[in-house]
Amino acid sequence: MNIQRNITQIKASLPEGVTLVAVSKFHPMEALTEAYEAGQRIFGESRAQELKAKQAVLPKDIEWHFIGPLQSNKVKDIAAYIHTIHSIDSLKLVQEVNKQALRHNRTIRVLLEIHVATEDSKHGFSPEEVLAFLANEEWKTFSNIRITGLMGMATFTDDEELVRSEFRQLKELFDSIRATWFPDDPEFSVLSMGMSDDYPVALEEGSTMIRVGSKIFGEREY
Ligand SMILES: *Cc1c(COP(=O)(O)O)cnc(C)c1O
Repeated sequence: MNIQRNITQIKASLPEGVTLVAVSKFHPMEALTEAYEAGQRIFGESRAQELKAKQAVLPKDIEWHFIGPLQSNKVKDIAAYIHTIHSIDSLKLVQEVNKQALRHNRTIRVLLEIHVATEDSKHGFSPEEVLAFLANEEWKTFSNIRITGLMGMATFTDDEELVRSEFRQLKELFDSIRATWFPDDPEFSVLSMGMSDDYPVALEEGSTMIRVGSKIFGEREY
């Protein structure tokens, strides 16, 4: 894997205004350092412990994104520095993020994760659930979080039309939520969708942030 070349090629192919999150979970420090040296500053991790270890030693100007399932009791471990949490799927979780952000006197950006794929998953709001979450309006009382958009994953399949229809569904939900709940909020601008195998389709369907791991770093060793 030539990490620097991969990053340069992906970045050059992105439309203006699209952000690349380099998903570095399970990859060693040296791989992240190589990406950093290629100019990459935004990294995505999915386990609190691993993130903590990497954050402690890597340069402080890295913008860390948390992209995996997050347990409430782990929020405190990442609250001091996390930039964006992509995997918010309950009121309880966002409440805890707010509480920990407050303790550190900072604001944490959060994305509401939406479940649109056909696979069963415990993670993510259904479209109905996210609308109920917003209508409840309790989130408006949380002073130290900012809801900046939505995140979603498509079904893991070769059926491009299925993937496309799921991304399209996410984009429609994003537009409708923005119009209803965030019409005057320029910060509600992130539609995080697209991974190594499906990001070109996600971009065609309106993604503004892609999360790419294996296309940059190679296969993960679990
Ligand atoms: C691991 C992961 C990715 C990156 O996956 P690749 O297929 O390696 O690009 C993106 N998003 C989430 C939520 C992930 O867990």
